[in-house]
Amino acid sequence: MKIYPIETGNFKLDGGAMFGVVPKVLWQRTNPADNNNLIDMSLRCMLIEDGKRLTLIDTGVGNKQSEKFFSHYYYFGDFTLDTSLAKYGFHRNDITDVFLTHLHFDHCGGSIQFNKNRTGYELAFKNAKFWSNENHWQWAAEPNVREKASFLKENINPIKESGQLNFVKLSDTNFNTTSELGFGILFVDGHTEKMMLPQIQYKGKTLVFMADLLPTVGHIPLPYVMGYDTRPLLTMDEKQQFLNLAVNNNYILFFEHDAQHELCTVKHTEKGVRLEQTYSFNEVFN
Ligand SMILES: [Zn+2]
Repeated sequence: MKIYPIETGNFKLDGGAMFGVVPKVLWQRTNPADNNNLIDMSLRCMLIEDGKRLTLIDTGVGNKQSEKFFSHYYYFGDFTLDTSLAKYGFHRNDITDVFLTHLHFDHCGGSIQFNKNRTGYELAFKNAKFWSNENHWQWAAEPNVREKASFLKENINPIKESGQLNFVKLSDTNFNTTSELGFGILFVDGHTEKMMLPQIQYKGKTLVFMADLLPTVGHIPLPYVMGYDTRPLLTMDEKQQFLNLAVNNNYILFFEHDAQHELCTVKHTEKGVRLEQTYSFNEVFN
């Protein structure tokens, strides 16, 4: 098996929204804000090459949204999904499986593109199976008012209509460890219904794709929960449970949204679980 981090660009979000009830004097130490109070966010996906299977975890924002939409999110950076795949010798048509942690636009928007004449949409990975789970799919297809701006119908309907949508099996225990994709999945419900975090055994280590449970290193302390979360108290429980597991089992955390750091480890302290050390992907896995 080989794993590659796939950068698909960066964007900016309001720092206050990203840290919920935590005051700026605290969160700006780890996530400095610009003059508009925006903080940098990466859109870092993960590619897993396992025999003939080539699985992409999340797909970034994509490029089909309007100029107005992108102007709200200050999309920037030198990378695109295609250039990042090409760096490792791959093309989007090689992807056999697209695994979507959840269907917020910054995680799944790259799954869909305009068709040739720009009259409609088509899958951006034409040879891939797309993976979600039944509960999250229902939740996203009929969104609540809170998440309506994050679940875009142009990201959801074309996948359904393609006939290439698959659901992973849900388990009774949320901290499950097997799936039909060859890696484990942790299910969490605080950010949104049944978000999925891939947990992968790789080179003797356990690598966990954090998605929006811990978007950045700055989100490790328990109260540092995004304002976007639908069930913040549950997120705090899930973080506590996860972070204890992470320390006790030496997990390596992979960040999708941390613009500075790809990976980190965590440790127990008197105040609770805290950052131990950050790493680049190559430092740990090359
Ligand atoms: Zn999200």
